Amino acid sequence: MFEYTSINQYHLALAQDKTSCTESVRHYLSKIDQAKHLNAFVHVFADEALQTAAALDEKRRSGKTTGKLHGVVVAIKDVICYKDHPLSAASGMLKNFTSIYSATAVKKLLQEEAIIIGVCNCDEFAMGSTNENSVYGNVLNAIDESRVPGGSSGGSAVAVQAGLCMVSLGSDTGGSVRQPADFCGIVGLKPTYGRISRYGLVAYASSFDQIGIFANHVEDAGKTLEIIAGADEYDSTVSQNPVEEYSKEPHAKKKFRFAYFKETLEHPSLDKEIAEGIKTLIDQLRKNDHEVSALSFEYLDYIVPAYYILTTAEASSNLSRYDGVRYGYRSSRPSNDLTEFYKHNRSEGFGKEVKRRIMLGTFVLSTGYYDAYFSKAQKVRRKLVEKTELVFSEFDFILMPTSPSVAFKIGEKADDPIAMYLADIYTVFANLTGIPGISLPMFTHSNGMPFGLQLMSKQFNELSLLQASEQLMQWSKGKY
Ligand code: GLN
Repeated sequence: MFEYTSINQYHLALAQDKTSCTESVRHYLSKIDQAKHLNAFVHVFADEALQTAAALDEKRRSGKTTGKLHGVVVAIKDVICYKDHPLSAASGMLKNFTSIYSATAVKKLLQEEAIIIGVCNCDEFAMGSTNENSVYGNVLNAIDESRVPGGSSGGSAVAVQAGLCMVSLGSDTGGSVRQPADFCGIVGLKPTYGRISRYGLVAYASSFDQIGIFANHVEDAGKTLEIIAGADEYDSTVSQNPVEEYSKEPHAKKKFRFAYFKETLEHPSLDKEIAEGIKTLIDQLRKNDHEVSALSFEYLDYIVPAYYILTTAEASSNLSRYDGVRYGYRSSRPSNDLTEFYKHNRSEGFGKEVKRRIMLGTFVLSTGYYDAYFSKAQKVRRKLVEKTELVFSEFDFILMPTSPSVAFKIGEKADDPIAMYLADIYTVFANLTGIPGISLPMFTHSNGMPFGLQLMSKQFNELSLLQASEQLMQWSKGKY
């Protein structure tokens, strides 16, 4: 029987002929079939994945050099383009749309011989925190099916959580990789803004959007990042910084300088047990000779409003391209003029949350309100960046909870958008400042649900972030 532990172990088993790519794809296809009710996948490319696997098996057996992700079974979120495959952003607006090109991240995966097994469910246009805003319906958390998996990359998270693929890609504009990873008990990495090309990622808020990775282990996340990161002529905001060997084992255990913001652990919305879990961890880190300092953070209450003003503003502009003229949903209602034609297409094609955000964004950008909202939020963003630079001049990492609570019950926050937005309090900081963040599955709540520790580092410090994460994970499992 096929058993997966990590990419490295899998590659070892392939080299020793103990398994094959075909066997692994068959295994995942049958798991996906058994887990259909979780609704994690919106498309599964069964025949194609089997054909690719057979070709890869033949290549490997003929002794040819294999790619770095040879036979690795990957799932992608429904906002990432894969040429000649369906792409809908979980929206009625793009139902039946087929990608005409592949995202750079996808091209890089394929070049290294990964197998894309299917497309995962998500919140419409990546807007949401529960995966309840999807035209395909909600996704169930495999640990407790009465709960949400988080969002917006809920399907990608469950695909890894329930063992339906080896790693998956999501996108993180305000926490959509880290928060579902936290809710599902897996690793979720959001790299630095600009570390991975956004070419072929459906735009939500372009100055925040970043492709992220879900994995069972830090090591797998590092290995995948190593492949998909890097310069790209199709994205002018992507960094030219060299890509480091993110999967490299650290030479020695290190002592780190951690900072945390007092206010984050005292916030009234934070679940008591999550606060206790993180405080206990801080004590243990200190006992292990790490430095952990409490800093004050005067901006905590401003970050969610700033995030929602800026992202809805960017979204209102980005989503104006969906007008039903060249592609996308087109209403059958007769229209008297072009404006009415747009109105029909957009009102029928978009879901409720997306329309709410387009209206919010249009409002904060409108004459008279621009200075009161948009400019102010930009100033908050600048202050946060300055604060971050200051913190990282003295510390290696910032520690924070990933989410103020464990996975919500289905429907719990669905009618209260403000409560839903406020739950992003710990994740949006990294997107506003562009720094990388990772959610590490380190804790279990007394109600049986997992929760994570969020670790952030300064920009482009993914190597240290991943090495420290690995060290913390090993340590929390009592390996040393
Ligand atoms: N929950 C946040 C939002 O709804 C995050 C979304 C994301 O990261 N794509 O905007």
